[in-house]
Amino acid sequence: MVTNWGNFPRVEADVTETSRFSEIKAFVENSNNVTIRGNGRSYGDASLGENIFSTLRLDKFIDLDPENCEIECESGLLFSDILRVIVPKGLFLPVTPGTKFITVGGAIGADVHGKNHHKEGSFASHVVHFDLLTATGETLRCSPRENTSLFWQTCGGMGLTGIILSARFKLKPIETAYIRQTSLKSPNIDAAMKAFAENPGSTYSVAWLDCAARGKNLGRSIIQLGEHASQSDLPKKFAADPLFLPSGNGPAVPLFMPSFAINPITVKSFNTAYYNRQRGTKKTSVIHFDPFFYPLDGIRYWNKLYGKDGFVQYQFVLPLDSSYDGIVEILERVTASGEGSPLAVLKLFGEPDPNAVMSFPMKGYTLALDFKANEKVFKLLDELDELVMTHNGRIYLAKDARMKPSVFRTTYSNTVRSGRFTSAQAKRLEN
Ligand SMILES: Cc1cc2nc3c(=O)[nH]c(=O)nc-3n(C[C@H](O)[C@H](O)[C@H](O)COP(=O)(O)OP(=O)(O)OC[C@H]3O[C@@H](n4cnc5c(N)ncnc54)[C@H](O)[C@@H]3O)c2cc1C
Repeated sequence: MVTNWGNFPRVEADVTETSRFSEIKAFVENSNNVTIRGNGRSYGDASLGENIFSTLRLDKFIDLDPENCEIECESGLLFSDILRVIVPKGLFLPVTPGTKFITVGGAIGADVHGKNHHKEGSFASHVVHFDLLTATGETLRCSPRENTSLFWQTCGGMGLTGIILSARFKLKPIETAYIRQTSLKSPNIDAAMKAFAENPGSTYSVAWLDCAARGKNLGRSIIQLGEHASQSDLPKKFAADPLFLPSGNGPAVPLFMPSFAINPITVKSFNTAYYNRQRGTKKTSVIHFDPFFYPLDGIRYWNKLYGKDGFVQYQFVLPLDSSYDGIVEILERVTASGEGSPLAVLKLFGEPDPNAVMSFPMKGYTLALDFKANEKVFKLLDELDELVMTHNGRIYLAKDARMKPSVFRTTYSNTVRSGRFTSAQAKRLEN
């Protein structure tokens, strides 16, 4: 059985893994239904299928050019491995999601976004070129200037155009491995959105929102703003090793927890404790990039906390002018259902690259909520889909496991038709 991060759904699959180009080419030429899989850190069924090609053996560095801030590598290399090499050289990823355990191919396939979308766009904006093995067995170099249409169909195209074999992308220079963080406590959603709007210059911004809070507390949150720290920002204890990288892994959740472990009472207590952890309304600190960008990576296999039946993450984006009304309606619906999420994450997207026609982001707010996977939740999410459609928003395919084809067709105007390359998601969405 193979699953992605949400442990829902589970599929029976043959998984092929090789780094030999001749074998990859033969595999593609001889198979009709190939699903491309990176590290399976999408939550739902985007990289699940009956006949999976895993890129994890394509894990070689090809070139690092610190002067021009560029790196080239095979597509199955993990961000975590790249960080180990680039941070000591004073370089950082241009865009990173909330986990470092994703592959470069997965970053392009889903065109991932980070906490800096409002300033620096999504991952595709930083790709110089990639080599794509297409359904015809040809390998094509794709970039914003070469095979342009295929380039943009692949960025956010969810693995339906071919296998990205390798990629070259931009990095950003950093002086230290630390972040100057400002945490703002917002008593409700109005204050949280005001804090985003008043800090457009912050390179990174994200809000951790208590989605069990109701009434005047609806949407209360802790907003984190961040900038890469310079040497002079570092307190003495960090100054001796400004590009420090921690070694080893954090604690792991060893087993699936019983499904009752996450219930309205535990969710409410967790949210309240998180919100009250910060006393004052504003707190500044210098913290390592690892807990700033990847707080959830600190507990390995935290996905098992949701039990064997798994969970779904519901991430939607709404256009700026309807974000406030839509998010309030959705939060009210979620709190009333009692099917809360231990923490919700709110981010502000900027203007997307007009060429990124397959990608999820649009200018406006995006909210991500986790739910246990069960029929009651799916019914609630169908209702939330209606609200997202009313407000002209869309749902992130990298998180989706249950959207209906009609919702997909209404909210995504551009799609790649699946052919030789397909996935359980593409089939479910009748794509
Ligand atoms: C804790 C956590 C936090 C996250 N936070 C964020 C976030 O902040 N922002 C965000 O955007 N995402 C976020 N994600 C989602 C994750 O970044 C994406 O789903 C990413 O695509 C996963 O990469 P992967 O290598 O695991 O790819 P997979 O999940 O295996 O695949 C993802 C998609 O990419 C395609 N693909 C993978 N490799 C290739 C390739 N070589 N060639 C062609 N297509 C390919 C697959 O077919 C599939 O459609 C988060 C996930 C987790 C678990």
